[in-house]
Amino acid sequence: MSEIIRMEKINKSYRMGEESLHVLKDISFVVEKGDYLTILGPSGSGKTTLMNILGCMDTFDSGTYQFEDIELDKCTNNQLSWIRNRKIGFIFQKYNLIPQYTALQNIIMPLLIRGMSRNEAVKKADETISLVGLSDRVLHKPNELSGGQQQRVAIARALVTEPSLLLADEPTGSLDSATGKDILALFQKLNDNGNTIIVISHDSKVAGQSKRVISIFDGKMAV
Ligand code: ADP
Ligand code: MG
Repeated sequence: MSEIIRMEKINKSYRMGEESLHVLKDISFVVEKGDYLTILGPSGSGKTTLMNILGCMDTFDSGTYQFEDIELDKCTNNQLSWIRNRKIGFIFQKYNLIPQYTALQNIIMPLLIRGMSRNEAVKKADETISLVGLSDRVLHKPNELSGGQQQRVAIARALVTEPSLLLADEPTGSLDSATGKDILALFQKLNDNGNTIIVISHDSKVAGQSKRVISIFDGKMAV
């Protein structure tokens, strides 16, 4: 198995005027290709901070972060945005869809941004759309879809570029428990198909669905 992520002794503080808040303390872990990991911790434990670093959306103060064969502390902003756009599919609690666009337009947007023609993008998205179970809803706008359907759109949008890693922050946090279960079943299917997934959650029921759990408390990983 090959490694996708290797973090060693990552530290991050937020500075607010004179004050400094040490949020991540010597975080170290490895994620292999094909893994399905939950990072589990209570509110305020540093999960979103860690997700932002994992997703190349924020920097860290010390430690090393290797994504595939790229050493990230030596990266420029351009390289970080390249990894973010090419290598990672993001899924958020609040879906983050563009409200004026149909589900289909939301899903193909990352392909259009890469310069693919609309016809090609629609063709490429077709398989992903049926995989997430949205085939009969793709011409609807987000406000015409249920929360679970909107999250499926967001998952399809994250998947359509075939990223190395799917990164999800509280992906079932806005859903009722039955719909949340459906979304977790979809993650299971995606992992069975070979996708590498990291889910961030405070919910041990979510963690129970993944292959592996890492717990974080007060910015430290539990051993
Ligand atoms: P979680 O996602 O586990 O709830 P966060 O990573 O959002 O935790 O926050 C961890 C700690 O860092 C909290 O005490 C929070 O208030 C603080 N924090 C988060 N983001 C910022 C920021 N941009 N500036 C200052 N403090 C922050
Ligand atoms: Mg959070």
